[in-house]
Amino acid sequence: MEKPIRIIPLGGLGEIGKNCLVLEWDQQLLVIDAGIIFPEESVYGVDLVAPDFSYILERKDRVVGVILTHGHEDHIGALPILLDKIDAPVYGTPLTLGLARHKLEDAGVKEFRLFPVEAGGTLHTGPYSLRFVHVCHSIPDGVGLIIETPGGTIVHTGDFKIDQTPVDAIPTQLELFALYGKDTLLLLSDSTNVDREGYSISEKEVGEKLEVIFFRAQGRIFIATFASHIHRIQQILYLSQRFGRKVIFAGKRLEENTLIAQRLGYLHVPPDLVIPLSRMRDYPDEELTIITTGSQGEPMSVLYRVASGEHKQLKIREGDTVIISSRPVPGNERAIARILNQLFMAGAQVFYQEIAPVHTSGHAHREELKLIINLIKPRFFMPLHGEFLHLVFHSQLAKRLGIPRERIILAQNGDVVELNGKGFSVVEHLDTEDVMVSGKGVGDIGPQILRERIRMSRFGTVVVLILLAPQEPRLVAPPMVIARGLSEEGEAMEKELQGLVEELLETQPQLLEDPEELKETVQRALKRHLGKSLNRRPLIIPLVARPQ
Ligand SMILES: [Zn+2]
Ligand SMILES: [Zn+2]
Repeated sequence: MEKPIRIIPLGGLGEIGKNCLVLEWDQQLLVIDAGIIFPEESVYGVDLVAPDFSYILERKDRVVGVILTHGHEDHIGALPILLDKIDAPVYGTPLTLGLARHKLEDAGVKEFRLFPVEAGGTLHTGPYSLRFVHVCHSIPDGVGLIIETPGGTIVHTGDFKIDQTPVDAIPTQLELFALYGKDTLLLLSDSTNVDREGYSISEKEVGEKLEVIFFRAQGRIFIATFASHIHRIQQILYLSQRFGRKVIFAGKRLEENTLIAQRLGYLHVPPDLVIPLSRMRDYPDEELTIITTGSQGEPMSVLYRVASGEHKQLKIREGDTVIISSRPVPGNERAIARILNQLFMAGAQVFYQEIAPVHTSGHAHREELKLIINLIKPRFFMPLHGEFLHLVFHSQLAKRLGIPRERIILAQNGDVVELNGKGFSVVEHLDTEDVMVSGKGVGDIGPQILRERIRMSRFGTVVVLILLAPQEPRLVAPPMVIARGLSEEGEAMEKELQGLVEELLETQPQLLEDPEELKETVQRALKRHLGKSLNRRPLIIPLVARPQ
């Protein structure tokens, strides 16, 4: 019997982030992307979230390759976590691998094997033959994939848009999709912007809008964008050169990324254009452009610190022009609005996407998505890279373009989809759990720790220390209570709780015989008391010590 192709999304479905898809034919695994997602503000102390790689780790000797479609965090961010556990060759275009290498070295991963493949080039690994197809996106050197497997051809668009006038003059290679995507069994396509009609505007048009702003600006120009948006940065560099402005990169990520892109030939930095921040005072305001990160309102970013007046060297003043050259990632709107308010208050003239087209998306709008489906005419269709509503919209779109409902795969993270020429089925659903990264810890935070963190930050912490005499059921000192984050009247509160514990020990002296029972009783009593008196549920930590 014909062996099916197995398609296992480990991340990226029902969310925009932590993309990771496993293809498996005859038990040989091809991993496409290993990304992360940034948690919402409300996730306590979790820096980022990675996919659950258990399925891959259980089969780590059968991974024939990890393919990276492009260098965004939601596609390469979890690579250090994956390569810490498996030894597999990694393939991607030169810029993608340049950024991946930096990330791996930064994370202290000692051994890894990176193999560059040029866009347009091919790769054979295990039973798979791949062709890397150049696609336009908000980072250079992105690719879609045409993957020939013994079970049929699979086309993966990667994150893409169809830009007819890209900054590097290399449009999406539609001709390769048309030529090699014939007889495609399955199309996997980017769903991010399926709810936006028409076509995305070209990156060049953003440059034209920026040009008008540069023309009018009288003082300094601050411009915030993603540190990986090399083409946007390129346009800003050229505009600055034309208008006689020096450029300052304010932000570590910006400096690192532009250096990598420049070294690999993806960014042209005219000589003597870029100056360090320390030389800012040597130039009048109208001769300065300051490129910053923080377009998403991230609290540690340069833009945030500039807007809130916390940045040492950079203060906004009247006459400054500030351009937020990005679109808020859902969830960041409020943080960005706060920054906009602060910038206006400081007297800056501010441009952002809602009032001027100073940004365009890197993801295809609906008409571009239709074009790809009609060009490939796949037998089966599976939407990727989107929240669930995007995946549903994209499925409906495919259906309208003539793909019958029974050949549309609306999957979820953890689904194990088996596909052959005749049909598909979800044969299993993996029990996947998000891997949370906090500081240097990977996966050491689970639901229990999160619950504790939430309690501590919402209600505070109470520590009760009870010292028992050695071998005797009596106290050697009165119980001690330390309350933190609970009430401004901390001392009074501690006294009150101490009294409560003392009373408890007086009425139930038998508790002194059993430290475990004592701990539980104290915890229950304090919980009940604080619940009743304050309606708060702090983390309560009873300690009972009995010196030997
Ligand atoms: Zn991307
Ligand atoms: Zn993406």
